[in-house]
Amino acid sequence: MIVTRDRAGLVKERETLGVGAGGATLGLVPTMGALHEGHRSLLRLAHEKADHVAVSIFVNPLQFGPAEDYSRYPRTFDADLEVCAEEGVSLVFAPAPEDMYLPDRQVGVSAGRMGAIVEGEFRPGHLDGVLTVVLKLFNLVRPDLAVFGQKDAQQLAMIRRMVADLDVPVSIVGAPTVREPDGLALSSRNRYLSRDDRAVALALSRALAAGAARRTPEEVRRAARAVLAAEPALAVDYLVLVHPATFEEVGDDHSGEAILAVAAKVGSTRLIDNVTVTL
Ligand code: AMP
Repeated sequence: MIVTRDRAGLVKERETLGVGAGGATLGLVPTMGALHEGHRSLLRLAHEKADHVAVSIFVNPLQFGPAEDYSRYPRTFDADLEVCAEEGVSLVFAPAPEDMYLPDRQVGVSAGRMGAIVEGEFRPGHLDGVLTVVLKLFNLVRPDLAVFGQKDAQQLAMIRRMVADLDVPVSIVGAPTVREPDGLALSSRNRYLSRDDRAVALALSRALAAGAARRTPEEVRRAARAVLAAEPALAVDYLVLVHPATFEEVGDDHSGEAILAVAAKVGSTRLIDNVTVTL
């Protein structure tokens, strides 16, 4: 396994792996580290689709708001390298922030209207920061495909949008959300939760399951809302039922697939989750 912090070394490392002119394909799994079973499932999916798997580990300052948890975000580099080695990763790219962004940086990717709704309404600039770093990682690593989790459904939809709008030559693969046996979606931020917090956090996946069992938009929203309302310790940012590709709210007459997405704070920890609903 090649581990590099050096962006300049990436071209050479690709050659070593026989990627590109050598004929081998490369799948990239972008992460912020603190790797868990959810990340492992992405690595396994990347292995199924590409000859070699690259992982980036980079806590991207651009996607955190000033009052968010950038400085206290979990950083577990040594354990992450073990996970990568166990999962047969060929290349780990872990740049330092000062090597990713020029001090006089001016240009970034704009997530447009879709970046300002739902998650974007509560985290202004977050999705611009995500798209900017993902495009940079694509340009540096030059993968054939990249795998992203459905756990961050709006992020995945926006990356598909960026690739289509900007003709980015990378295939985007979505991966299902990995959950604890009791339903809690795995997240690097779950380690902030106390035992009591964790019990409260379960209301998110319970609400989504209650909604997903219904068949009309009105019933879905009502069933999910009732579960959230029964958990007063949860500070809900949003519960929305949206089109999978645009994240616009679906109308009451919508049929087919939609995404039921929720974001809420448990104490100081903000969690998001979503599920696909068939209407
Ligand atoms: P992060 O390190 O949180 O930026 O996540 C890196 C990638 O892992 C993103 O594509 C996430 O959507 C994905 N991911 C995070 N949690 C899960 C999960 N529980 N199941 C599947 N994928 C996940």
